[in-house]
This record gives sequence, structure tokens and C-alpha cells, in this order.
Amino acid sequence: METRPEHIYECIVVGGGIAGLQAAIQLGRYQHDILVIDGNRGRSTLCRNYHNLLGWPDGVSGLELRRLGRSQALHYGVQFRSDVAVNANRLGFARFSLDTATGERLFTETLLFATGITDAVPAIPGLVPALGDTVFICPDCDGYEAIDRKTTVLGSGDAGAAMALELLYFTKHLVFVNHHAEAVADSLQKALANANIPRIDGDILQVEAGVSGPVRVTLSDGRSLETERCFLAFGGNQVESELASSLGAQCETKHHLAVHPRTKQTTMPNLFAAGDVVAHSEQVSIAMGDGAGAAIFIHKALLGEHVDVCQMPSPNQVTRTSPAHARPGRLATEP
Ligand SMILES: Cc1cc2nc3c(=O)[nH]c(=O)nc-3n(C[C@H](O)[C@H](O)[C@H](O)COP(=O)(O)OP(=O)(O)OC[C@H]3O[C@@H](n4cnc5c(N)ncnc54)[C@H](O)[C@@H]3O)c2cc1C
Repeated sequence: METRPEHIYECIVVGGGIAGLQAAIQLGRYQHDILVIDGNRGRSTLCRNYHNLLGWPDGVSGLELRRLGRSQALHYGVQFRSDVAVNANRLGFARFSLDTATGERLFTETLLFATGITDAVPAIPGLVPALGDTVFICPDCDGYEAIDRKTTVLGSGDAGAAMALELLYFTKHLVFVNHHAEAVADSLQKALANANIPRIDGDILQVEAGVSGPVRVTLSDGRSLETERCFLAFGGNQVESELASSLGAQCETKHHLAVHPRTKQTTMPNLFAAGDVVAHSEQVSIAMGDGAGAAIFIHKALLGEHVDVCQMPSPNQVTRTSPAHARPGRLATEP
């Protein structure tokens, strides 16, 4: 029989990005005993400028939002640990245990997964430092920044082609650089040709960008082009839902965790999820809303109230219509 651990948290939040921090602030204000474990690698560490947020007309970086969120949560007594959760188990007495990469075993009554998505950004010199200033990944977030500007899609195959076509809403001055000359479906090739979007097959060697542009893209064969804005679409992003799945939480078709729309509880009791790891999030404001919503129902669960779990539709009820974010070339994941 397992011995009762010395300390059992009321909630461990896995992931200290936007959703996790907003949840931690809300849970801290209930004065619950909360720990945030964060690997410090999320999308909010990559974006140098969010332009579409209420209250930030001149933009704000992900790192600044994280810094502010963390200090706000600390004010309410939330604890933080820089670590990575690597293993999780269900238990009788504490409901969950969590093992971390540094070898700790932690115990908690409830768990919130706010683990986000890991973007497939190739190791091209100059790319990451430009993210959010002149190089973007989401037309819904940043299509505005490309309006009527020379815009280059740096992508691969169908994902890149689809992104270029989507950007036509904002600008006609488009080029698609097809990294590694990946195959593009015939229908997309035709659509690119019809829209007069040139495709350049080659290997991207480096990207040089100032804070406001222009951006120079150089290929390994010596060709280079100058553009004002870039959008990335390499496909292959990974939804970080594996650990929650190992506890029995079910996923939707693209590996996003399925949650109850109101409570954010997964298909497993006391196991919640918020932010990009959940389908239809993929924006800061939505991740914040998810985090706050999850925290409210975690609070109710801790008080012993009934909280609805997610009910998955039976297989013949599952709709295969992809949400906008699940199209190739968007923020969302390519399986
Ligand atoms: C370049 C770029 C530009 C963007 N631009 C915009 C924009 O203009 N407007 C907008 O609204 N949105 C934008 N987004 C999207 C926005 O950043 C995300 O929607 C938001 O960060 C989601 O928040 P999150 O908390 O779900 O995930 P994240 O911010 O990615 O945080 C997840 C956290 O979980 C941690 N984590 C994961 N697994 C573990 C584990 N096992 N153990 C411990 N920690 C773990 C990670 O290290 C990370 O810190 C952009 C994204 C990128 C990459």
C-alpha cells in the first residue's frame, strides 16, 4: 500500500504559458494551494509581438505577458517550478501523481493541462528572432500586417500552398518558397497558378529581418529575395496532449484534448485542459478565456460540486469538417 505523501496540492497546472498563467491567477484568487510546472518553451516564448489583444494597441511580446502573469500569480501565493512533467498516474488518495524530469514526484487533487502546441519551426538562422515582428504564422492573428504588402510564405508542400492561398484575402503580392521542394497536390498547384502565386522550390538557408522589415530570404543555391512580410507553414506541429492522454483523457481528431465546452473538464474527472492543447483555441485571448473558465470549474470540483465531464460523441456522430485552424498551413497541427 502506498504511504500518504506529505503534501498534496489542490491543483497542479502543467504549463505556465498564457492559459496556465490565467488559470493560476484565478485559482490563486480563490486562495487554493496551486503549483505551476513549466518547461518554458511554449508559443508564448516565441512571439515577439501580439498585435490583436485588447489593451495592447502597440502590441506586447509573449515573454512580457508571461512575466506579468507570473508576478500577478505570485502575488496570490501561486508556486512555480521550472521543470517538465514526464509521467502521470491516477491514485486513490491524492487522485494524481506527477513525475518530473528532475526526478520529483508530486501529488495533486486536480490537474490542469495547459501544455499548448510545439510549432514545427525548422532551424533556419534568423527565423525565430523575427517571429511576431515581420514573420508570422497565423493569418487570423496577423493577416492585417500583410495587407497589400509583398509577402512570402516560407513553407513546405500542401501546408505552404494552402497558406499562400489563404493570404490572398490580404494581399496579391505573394510568393511561396517551398522548403526542400516538398510535393504539392495537383489541385493546390492549379490554385496557385490561377492566383498568379509563384512557387520557388529550394532549401531556405537563412532569413535576415529587421524589426519592421524588409526581410531577405536566401536559398542554399544562392538565390535570394526581398520581401516585406513572411508567413510560416511547414506543417507537422505537435499538440502536447500525450501526458493527459496517458491518464485516459480522450482527444479529438487532430490530437487536441476534448473538453466540456463550459467546464473545460476532459473526459476524465478532475482532469482539465485549457489553451492551444484544446481545439479551437490558438489565440492568446481564447487561451486566457479557457484558463479562467477551467479555473472556475476546478474550484467547484475542489468544493465537491458536480462538474460536467466532456462527453465524446459516438464515432458515427463525429463531424469530420475541419475547423479553420485545422487547415494545413495554419497554426494548428498536421498529424
Ligand atoms: C510566432 C507566433 C505568433 C503568434 N501570434 C499571435 C497573435 O498575434 N495573436 C494571438 O492571439 N496569438 C498568437 N499566437 C498564438 C499564441 O501564442 C498561443 O495561442 C498561446 O501562446 C497559447 O497559450 P497556451 O498557454 O495554450 O500555450 P503556450 O503559450 O505555448 O504555453 C504552453 C506552456 O506549457 C509548457 N509545457 C508543455 N508541456 C509541458 C510539460 N510536460 N511540463 C511542463 N511544462 C510544459 C511549455 O513549456 C509552455 O511554457 C502566436 C504564436 C506564435 C508561435
